[in-house]
Formats: sequence, C-alpha cells, structure tokens
Amino acid sequence: MVLFEVPGWSVPTAPVSKFAQSTSKKRKRPAAQDADKMQSVEVNLDKLMQKLGSVGKHQEDKQGPKKKKMNHKKTTGGLDAKVEHATSKKGKEKGSSSPGGSIKGGAVEQSVKGSLGPRKKIKQKKSLKPDGGKSEQQPQNVSPTVDEVSGLTSLQKGMKESLDGARFRWINELLYKSDSSEAARMMKEDPAVFHDYHSGFRHQVQSWPSNPVSHYISQLSSYPQNTIIADLGCGDATLARGLPPKKLRVLSFDLISDGAYIVAADICSHVPLPGSEPSSSQMSEGEAQIVDVVVCALSLMGTNWPVCIREAWRVLKPGGELKIAEVASRFTDVDEFVSLINSIGFKMKAKDDHNSHFTLFEFKKVARTSRTDKEWSKVMSNGGILKPCEYKRR
Ligand code: SAH
Repeated sequence: MVLFEVPGWSVPTAPVSKFAQSTSKKRKRPAAQDADKMQSVEVNLDKLMQKLGSVGKHQEDKQGPKKKKMNHKKTTGGLDAKVEHATSKKGKEKGSSSPGGSIKGGAVEQSVKGSLGPRKKIKQKKSLKPDGGKSEQQPQNVSPTVDEVSGLTSLQKGMKESLDGARFRWINELLYKSDSSEAARMMKEDPAVFHDYHSGFRHQVQSWPSNPVSHYISQLSSYPQNTIIADLGCGDATLARGLPPKKLRVLSFDLISDGAYIVAADICSHVPLPGSEPSSSQMSEGEAQIVDVVVCALSLMGTNWPVCIREAWRVLKPGGELKIAEVASRFTDVDEFVSLINSIGFKMKAKDDHNSHFTLFEFKKVARTSRTDKEWSKVMSNGGILKPCEYKRR
C-alpha cells in the first residue's frame, strides 16, 4: 500500500464517507449541534487545565518528586476521563503532538468533543501562598519541567499539544469528509477553526522535505510579466507572498479572508471572478475570463471538489493552465483522476509523480460544449476518486 510518507500522515483504505454516515450509534446528531457542544467542552477543558496548572505545580512544590509521580498519574487519569472522547483506546502516550489513533468511522464525532483544546495560554501559578511559598524554605526552582517560554510544565505542555493536535485532525476530517458548504458554514460561524487549522497545517509543512507551493513559486517566477494567477484554496497565501507582486498578479481564495491577500470564497461552489461556460452545443471556451493560470495546491478537499475544477475552467482564459498538486496517497486511480479532469474540459500536459509525497499535474484548458444539469451531476459525483487525507496521531 502506498502511504503518504510524511510522518504522522496516513490514508485509510475506506472510501470517502460523510459525517452523517458515522458508524457511531451513540452520538448521531447534526454537525450544527457539535458547534454548541464545542463551547462548553472548551470551557471545561480550560478549567481542567487551569486546575492542573495550580494543583500539579502546588503538589510538585510541596511534595517533591515522589509525590509528583503519584499526582501526575492521578491528574492524567482525570484528564483522560474528561477528554476520553478525544483519544483512542490506545492513546496513552504522553507529550505527543496529538492524541488518539487514526480517526475512523464513529470515532470522528467522538474526537469532535475532545478536540477543542484550550487555545488560551495557561499561566503558571508561582505559589498558592501569599509569600510565594518562601516560608516553607523550598528552593525557588523546584520544577525542572517548567518550560521558560510557555510557562507550562511538561505534563501541561504535552496535554496542550495533544488537544491542539486532536483539534487539527478533527478540522482536517471535516474538510475532507464533508461537502464544502458544511466547512464554509462552520468556519464562518467560528473563524478560530480556520486559524487553528492553519496553525496545524504550518506545523505539518515544517516536517515535509518539500512543499508544492515552493515548487510553484520558483516555477511561476519565470512566467511573463502580468500573468494572472488564481490560487484556489490558498491557505496563508504563501504563493502570493512569495511571487514578485509587480510582475505577477496572484488572486488568492480561501474559505476565510485575512483582510489583505485572501478573498473569501467557497471554491467548490463559486469563484468570484468573471468567466462563462458554453451555452450551446457548439465547442467553446466561454467568454470574459482574465485568469492565465489556476493553482490548486492540496486544496481539493471537500467531497464536491470536482466543482472546483469546473470553476477553474470557467475562470481560465482560452488555453489557460491548471496546476494541481495532491497528496500521492489520496489517489485511488491516477488515470481515472486525469480522465475526470479531462472530461471537465482539460488536456493533461504533464504529470510528475517522482516525489514520494505529492503528485503534480499540469492541464491545459480546451474547448467543450454545454452540458445539462443532469450530465454535470454525473461528472461532479466522482469526488470519491480522491480519498481523504487523514493525520495519524504521532
Ligand atoms: N494551497 C495552500 C494551502 C493548502 S491547505 C498551500 O499549499 O500552502 C488546503 C487549503 O484549501 C486550506 O486553506 C483550506 O481552507 C482550503 N480549502 C479547502 N476547501 C476549500 C473550499 N471549498 N473553498 C476555499 N478554500 C478551501
């Protein structure tokens, strides 16, 4: 089995499934209700972490290493009890960047509950006594495990990382396993979801030996002056930031705007750029487009991702280029993937599968005829050709 080899990534063999198809018998409810639950769980976890902050440190200060071990065990148990929905049954490692095993089936909803770890910095109490504990004549620096920067003990740090990791994996699942409208709705309701996803994504990117966006930056740098590029699913707009702005124009789209580079849009619904589709049975490339190159770098995420390719066609000038980079292990069948893209009105020009992690494609827009809604629905229903990309607990 070809796996995406970046540590911590794995892809299940099961086809794309929706949250609604969760195998969990216990907790079937609409995703909207999860958002409400998110709030209260977050508060509980915050309280718990704060409790750990004071109790754990106090006990360490007072009782020394022997007792500390006991309390460590106790408090870990307490946290497990609270966030057990976030962790798999095997999830007992400490200090890991994310809890639980790989999320599958019914475990998806469970991870929702516990994946909303505290985003606030937990302040380390120096002492619970007004005199700073000096009366007990304890050495000042009794705990070697307190991190100077974060102010967290190693236990707290590990827990925070676990919760952040679980939250990232939950958002990632949502993006890959649901229709983009669901992800768009949730991110609009709570933009912190978008922020947290990208923090986790940046963390992952650091461990990759190469990044498709870096490849596109160097490739597009040599394109002619005034080339117009649409980056669909731009993330942090790394492409726009990395290309010379006076030479190339990059239009960056993602679910949430940053108020600067990024235009908010659901790329699997409508890209807010001019362009039309053929209106008759005559071969045509549509009208009014301004875009020379469309880039989709790891952004074909929602189950309705083929709509994004249809949008790419609509906004591209005649003969325009479509560049796609995807995680290699997402492909159930590369030829079927290429056929699907071609059927939307493209011709494949190049494929690069030399990289063990990503496969890169270059397509050229070609003329096509109009299609009925029924014909389009058939083409658009083939999103299962790409499997979701899931992160494993590390
Ligand atoms: N292309 C960037 C980011 C990749 S992460 C890079 O390579 O660095 C994938 C991005 O696609 C995320 O930012 C996610 O929010 C975005 N995305 C996924 N589905 C989307 C949709 N339907 N509409 C807009 N953006 C989407």
